[in-house]
Amino acid sequence: MATGLLTIDHGAIARNWTALDRASGTGTETAAVVKADAYGLGAAEVARTLARAGARRFFVAVAEEGAAVRAALGPGPEIGVFGGHMAGDAGLIRDCALVPMLNAPEQLTRHLQALPGHPFGIQLDSGMNRLGMEPADWAAIRADALAAGLRLIMSHLACADEPETGFNEIQLACFRDMTEGCDVPRSLSATGGILLGPEYHFEITRPGIGLYGALPFAQATPVLRLSLPVIQTRIVEPGEAVGYGCSFRADTSRTVATVAGGYADGILRALSGRGTLWSEGRPCPILGRVSMDLITADVTDLPAIPEALDLIGPDQGVDSLATAAGTIGYELLTSLGPRYARRHIGAAAP
Ligand SMILES: *Cc1c(COP(=O)(O)O)cnc(C)c1O
Repeated sequence: MATGLLTIDHGAIARNWTALDRASGTGTETAAVVKADAYGLGAAEVARTLARAGARRFFVAVAEEGAAVRAALGPGPEIGVFGGHMAGDAGLIRDCALVPMLNAPEQLTRHLQALPGHPFGIQLDSGMNRLGMEPADWAAIRADALAAGLRLIMSHLACADEPETGFNEIQLACFRDMTEGCDVPRSLSATGGILLGPEYHFEITRPGIGLYGALPFAQATPVLRLSLPVIQTRIVEPGEAVGYGCSFRADTSRTVATVAGGYADGILRALSGRGTLWSEGRPCPILGRVSMDLITADVTDLPAIPEALDLIGPDQGVDSLATAAGTIGYELLTSLGPRYARRHIGAAAP
């Protein structure tokens, strides 16, 4: 088989949820964000693992993702939709019992007209200017929303992983201000906000990336291993070049392995000539360009040619790979391509 193997450790995902649940403190419910196919790892499998670990509330970005999570979990757990109630979504929201986080007065009107009595939350903008009602919108519809059975008020931090900016305190004060006197559960914090401390936790926290083993949750248990099979090796003599553009040229004799995996699989071209594959603690620098389906790496110093080289694993975590590629763990995970064989270790049975 010449596709990469992505191994997903569900025990680690459950441990990370439990650790973030503990960090959220007693009296705070810890939800789980499984948008974007659980950050590329498989929403159905991951949601079942998290439900088994104790999560009773999930969040997705759009209603279609909510439908997939509902199919995996069955009735019971609450599934919130950050994008709110968009035109055409009423059927999915009703049939899959989704809870839209309404972002604008028009969404509230749409929701109350299409699905009177159906639960909803409100997302407030506390300074990020991305999603959520502005203070004036909120003031205008607040009484209606509360009377219509509002069940959750949330907002989102723009700089949770950069406490030194001082912007978290500003958003916290704004969120407090806007929700004063509402007897409704509140949620402000994703992974980064949980780590800021108890004043950011309110009644519900919503971690995503930390569950999947990446920053800003530095204490996370690693979740992934990505192994790329070696298809072929060759000796490259001094003066010979490797790959598109001949961008690597050997000055000494090198043993070069060609492995399956490329930018079509989410392995960013930015790793060309500077990323590293690994074999049991030994680095194998990427030589030349990452191409669509293939990577060439220097295996000269390995004692033997292994069947596969690791791009992600014990020697190189998601965040160090992301840094080498000039990006962040979030983008790296959600770019993991559909072509990998995915092996779910310790997943809950469907
Ligand atoms: C993605 C997202 C989260 C989860 O954020 P992480 O940083 O991955 O923990 C929480 N809330 C909202 C609104 C989001 O968009």
